[in-house]
Amino acid sequence: MKSPVHRCRDVERQAACLQTEQPCVPVSQHNPSSMWFIRDACGIVCGVITWMLVFYAEFVVLFVMLLPSKNLTYSLVNGTVFNTLAFLALASHFRAMCTDPGAVPTGNATKEYIESLQLKPGQVVYKCPKCCSIKPDRAHHCSVCKRCIRKMDHHCPWVNNCVGENNQKYFVLFTMYIALISLHSLVMVVFHFLYCFEDDWTKCSSFSPPATVILLILLCFEALLFLIFTSVMFGTQVHSICTDETGIEQLKKEERRWGKKTKWMNTKAVFGHPFSIFWFIPLTQPGKAHGKAESYQYVV
Ligand SMILES: [Zn+2]
Ligand SMILES: [Zn+2]
Repeated sequence: MKSPVHRCRDVERQAACLQTEQPCVPVSQHNPSSMWFIRDACGIVCGVITWMLVFYAEFVVLFVMLLPSKNLTYSLVNGTVFNTLAFLALASHFRAMCTDPGAVPTGNATKEYIESLQLKPGQVVYKCPKCCSIKPDRAHHCSVCKRCIRKMDHHCPWVNNCVGENNQKYFVLFTMYIALISLHSLVMVVFHFLYCFEDDWTKCSSFSPPATVILLILLCFEALLFLIFTSVMFGTQVHSICTDETGIEQLKKEERRWGKKTKWMNTKAVFGHPFSIFWFIPLTQPGKAHGKAESYQYVV
């Protein structure tokens, strides 16, 4: 619950209220034609680590396990599957990182703009005191992105971006593909260990037996850790999409002000309509979830 003081600062009941406040400082706007990228050192480091971990897995899978294998069909099938999934994981990561998650224009909480909304008596608009924007319903301010984000779920340092209305599909695909390559590499490591034991560690790898064991064990740890982490994240995201309740709304136990739809409708709002193979491809933009329907005002 907001305190009356906070509420007075946050809510603009009438245009006159604005005159008593600090004027909005112009904030640099994101140019829609330029790429969205958050300049946050921690996020950039985490993003680079993510790519390096995927490349490490690629290296071990290809050069330690598949290329030295004598079974060409096994190598070709597993190599194709693993590389396709890894490409989709990295493409999803890139799209999740470089897609505007649904940032609200900053600095538009001006007297003129609020007057132009022609609010009816009893209607209020919320103003974000941090970025001076008029906050649409279900938007939250992110202190890392320094913007209000529509349907903000959380800020993820691993993708160096907020997860919001416009990039949730990419984030879900990213967690799904990372979980799949983790599972796939774990299965391959188990098979390779069995194969090496049979072959007495002589011709199972182009590396020495100790180096092979260390590389495989490191991959095993990495895959297990990320399989658990991304599976949990994927499950949480699917649950929040089905219930149409963002992570922040669940955390704050916010009162539901938006209409209830079926799970299938909610999923289509995020992944696009109708169901198609494009749901699983991170290279296509899903249809705007709420289009022009989102409103800046609602009755209290
Ligand atoms: Zn804000
Ligand atoms: Zn953010």
